[in-house]
Amino acid sequence: MKDAKQNLAVLVVMADEFERERIAALLGRVAGTVFEARDGREGLRSWRDNQPDMVLTDMVLPVLDGLDMIATIRGEDEDVPVLVAYDLYNPKTLLKAVEMNIDAFLRMPVRDERLLDAVRRCARTVFMRRKLARNDTMLWSLLDIFPGMALLEHNGRTIYANRHLAAYLGFDSFLDMRDSGVSFGSNIVELNGAPYTGGDHGWVRVIVDDQLDRDQVVRVNSPGNPSGRAGVFAVTHSPFPNSRLRLFSFQDISELEDERAMLQDEASTDPLTQAMNRRSFLRLLDSEMVSGRALGLIMFDIDHFKSINDEYGHDVGDAVLREISALVRDNIRETDRLARWGGEEFMVLAPGSSMERTAQVAERLRGAVESFSFTGVPRPVTSSFGVAVVENGESQDVFIKRVDTALYHAKESGRNRVVQG
Ligand code: GH3
Ligand code: MG
Ligand code: MG
Repeated sequence: MKDAKQNLAVLVVMADEFERERIAALLGRVAGTVFEARDGREGLRSWRDNQPDMVLTDMVLPVLDGLDMIATIRGEDEDVPVLVAYDLYNPKTLLKAVEMNIDAFLRMPVRDERLLDAVRRCARTVFMRRKLARNDTMLWSLLDIFPGMALLEHNGRTIYANRHLAAYLGFDSFLDMRDSGVSFGSNIVELNGAPYTGGDHGWVRVIVDDQLDRDQVVRVNSPGNPSGRAGVFAVTHSPFPNSRLRLFSFQDISELEDERAMLQDEASTDPLTQAMNRRSFLRLLDSEMVSGRALGLIMFDIDHFKSINDEYGHDVGDAVLREISALVRDNIRETDRLARWGGEEFMVLAPGSSMERTAQVAERLRGAVESFSFTGVPRPVTSSFGVAVVENGESQDVFIKRVDTALYHAKESGRNRVVQG
């Protein structure tokens, strides 16, 4: 306890000089350093300047009252032990002090042995806390050796983010990160595939409360990474026994995720033209029709395409298909989607478009194709268009049939034209 005594600092705040000096001298037996203050304001200043391990104060003080001083101190450090010396004549103030979770009450005039006992008891808490803090530091160092990103959380508060995680967010250490007010949560963009709006801590609940215990995946912005790409991580969490502490660890699955996205793209894209394939187009059409919005549909077919293959070769035919896809993409809005329906037939889906606009788009595409010089084809290539807009309660089959019929009429009535269905 000898070293411990050296390491213990107590602040005594008392108005009465005689009593204060007597107590300070007494405390010299158990504490290495004793700071003294005469009133609440001085006490607060000394608390901030000297950071004592505990505070012994009069309940009633001049300038700034003892209780107000304690409230401020506790606001800055909720754990610091506070001992209060009181006079019996003021029960109301005493009641207020009881509510503040005071560690010891000492009736004035303070009896030596009672005071020393109380201080020793509080000192044990102080030393215990220091030991715990040393353990924390050890845990932190362990987490820093951890190969991936890890985060310790307690009741919705981040206790520690390891070196990898701090670096990912652009900081040298957790302390830098905490000081700058940046949280892990504020950098999450997606949680399990859906946009994330849970702020600093919402993600914790979502992950911890998942009944099915599924794999949890977060996409997280990386301000610390020059390429700036958001990475994708699989999250696992484990509680600590007998505590509400939780450890989250994050495994970087960005590459796997890229591969998955690429495979998905491949499965939904026509390899020759890079337009959507028929299957994914039908899926999109389905979801657009469910939405109940206005919806325009264009179906077009290259005129006499067989003769292009026959005259200039299959490769030239392929090039025409590629070029016509690029041409169409250049001439539609971002929200309009091109799909290869099959062979030399294509569809354009125009969400939110009326018949008037859909027909206009088709007419623009017709003109663009007609005036384009396709590689290896020394003459104009034309195409025929059917257009339709969805009708209330119409099935997908009927909608497609109508636009197909319109295209058929365009072919029948001479090709290189737009016909409304
Ligand atoms: P129409 O004006 O009536 O549409 O006449 P068309 O010659 O365009 O129609 P038809 O259906 O008789 O011929 C379509 C041709 O498209 C036949 C087929 O060989 C060709 N074709 C289908 N897919 C491809 C492809 O991927 N590459 C090439 N080069 N040709 C294709
Ligand atoms: Mg054709
Ligand atoms: Mg055809």
